[in-house]
Amino acid sequence: MATSTAKFTGDPNSHDTSEFSDGISATCLCGSIRITINDNELFTRKRGHLCHCANCRKVAGSYVSSNLAIEKEKVVVDDPQGVLKRYRDYATASGKCVERCFCGTCGNPLLSIAEIYPTMIIVKMGIFPRIPEPECESFALHRHAWQGKHGDLPQFEIVRGGKQLGE
Ligand SMILES: [Zn+2]
Ligand SMILES: [Zn+2]
Repeated sequence: MATSTAKFTGDPNSHDTSEFSDGISATCLCGSIRITINDNELFTRKRGHLCHCANCRKVAGSYVSSNLAIEKEKVVVDDPQGVLKRYRDYATASGKCVERCFCGTCGNPLLSIAEIYPTMIIVKMGIFPRIPEPECESFALHRHAWQGKHGDLPQFEIVRGGKQLGE
């Protein structure tokens, strides 16, 4: 049950995961752009990853970014005023372009489109009322020692599916 405080501070626990059994939807900070993920397994299994790479940290304004790489056709971007902006980032580990999309009005990072994953969109999960429990961490070599651990998540040294920390 959402309290008035939760409404403004975003307590994820004020949303039962059953609210998101068909997908999840949210707007950027100013409300200009709505992102909807149509997927019925967002909270029935682990989804997404925490990325510690320098670019994700810059975009997130934080020590980690909560990302979900998901099939393009499952993501709907509703941008009635056409304010979505794209920054073509080539300073990536792969050297391939990552198009970083954000709201041109409020600056909220929303999603990334990586040339190396042409069928996927990487959604920045911070905008949503509740974030699925992630599957793994990427660029775990670049973690800060003070941040603690996120349970027993697989920690890939660099790319997802690659060498794991301590292997
Ligand atoms: Zn906005
Ligand atoms: Zn990253």
